[in-house]
Amino acid sequence: MRTLIHDLEFLITADRDDRVLHGASVVVDGDRIADAGPAAEIAGRHPRASFDALVDGSRRGMTPGFIDSHMHLSETLSRAVFPDNLATRAWVFHWAKPFYANVDGRDEVVGATLGMAEMLRCGTTCFLDMGAQNDVAGVVEAIRAVGMRGVTGRHACDVRPEAVPEGWTEEMMDHHFFADAKAALKALEDTVRSHHGAAGGRVRCWVNIEGKEPCSLELHVGSRALAERLGVGTTYHLATSIEEARVSEKRHGVWPITRIADAGGLGPNLVIAHGVAVTDAEIERMAKTGTMIAFCPATSVKLAKGATKIGRYPEMLAAGVPVGIGTDGVSAGGTLNLMRQMYLVAGMFKDSRMDSTLVGARKALRLATIEGARLLGWDQEIGSIEPGKKADFVLFDLDHFEWVPYGDPLQALVYSASPASIAQTWVDGRALYRDGRVQTVDEPALHREARERAAAIVKRAGLSRERTPTVSTTYD
Ligand SMILES: [Zn+2]
Repeated sequence: MRTLIHDLEFLITADRDDRVLHGASVVVDGDRIADAGPAAEIAGRHPRASFDALVDGSRRGMTPGFIDSHMHLSETLSRAVFPDNLATRAWVFHWAKPFYANVDGRDEVVGATLGMAEMLRCGTTCFLDMGAQNDVAGVVEAIRAVGMRGVTGRHACDVRPEAVPEGWTEEMMDHHFFADAKAALKALEDTVRSHHGAAGGRVRCWVNIEGKEPCSLELHVGSRALAERLGVGTTYHLATSIEEARVSEKRHGVWPITRIADAGGLGPNLVIAHGVAVTDAEIERMAKTGTMIAFCPATSVKLAKGATKIGRYPEMLAAGVPVGIGTDGVSAGGTLNLMRQMYLVAGMFKDSRMDSTLVGARKALRLATIEGARLLGWDQEIGSIEPGKKADFVLFDLDHFEWVPYGDPLQALVYSASPASIAQTWVDGRALYRDGRVQTVDEPALHREARERAAAIVKRAGLSRERTPTVSTTYD
């Protein structure tokens, strides 16, 4: 199948030279971009008769598909369930964990499918999912069926809290925690061997773990070593809040990233999620080892992590630490809308440091595209619009009020536009979102089931604004 998308009003390539073309055409051949460039040049190289389909790109703008560097497919049924006055550790230990312990295999598949439908509507074509809590095979099948591209894995941790936290049960503890790092790594290796490369290579499977207090040092270090041996990546939460850094200092004498670095755990196949509480010395060690950071601005804003107060993201970028952006789960950040993260990261450091030169629109778009691809180890194939790469891209409707009128497409994209003006989202050469519908999902039926299942989980988990704690001393 050869498709010509002709006469685009603009094409933001996110290539090495960061080219933005005005009046461009793109040739899609099967799952790949065969050619892209000025419309007249493309017309000269490719006669119209050679195409199976033509898409009129006038009044359309194209960007690479967005890449979400940190998200939780299995958390999509928990939108706006927990109070919004919780700090990270109470949120995780007393609300999120009991909720997710009551998510069964079918809930997980429904949540994952719902999450992918939301991502496609938001222009996201590829994601790094932290992993299934129940049924990895079911989630992998859901990704295959929807047609997206992504990295998944399975949840793993191995350090039980001393006392059973409020809202947890013994049964939940047994399901949630592996006996030790060795048992966890064995299960993770099996998962990678079963699922890596599924759906014709659209699904990759990594050695993901939860990270921080519920994981031993051996598991943190072992996950990266195992990933290296298997030729994949690993990702875990770390340095996610100042509370976590203080607990680490009290228990281990050092902050979280230093602890991992001292044990030889950093490396170029590790994506650390959040990385809010980080010192300058730790930034240097991450840069030296090629360790990467997935920054989740909306989660920081909602859970008071302090990205604008203590976050060192502009310094990480300046030091050459690869940084991507993530939405996190919908209960942590609110949405799976990566355009919102682009907007936040473009502006939040300008404001907090009173320096208008920090980050900005052009850099924010790169973090959401080619830099995200780099974090996922997928930048040879995706992240920019270039001949030979996979046909993953977004078409914006420039007749939508968000774009009337506009000057610089990059600024309009990041500061003015939202998913509301997305006309189509393509993955692997297929328009998975177009004409206002996700083509591979029965959305009305999915919505009905998602509402019912979400309400049933809240009931089973027994979460209560009267009884469930809003501060945490777990792992103190
Ligand atoms: Zn997360």
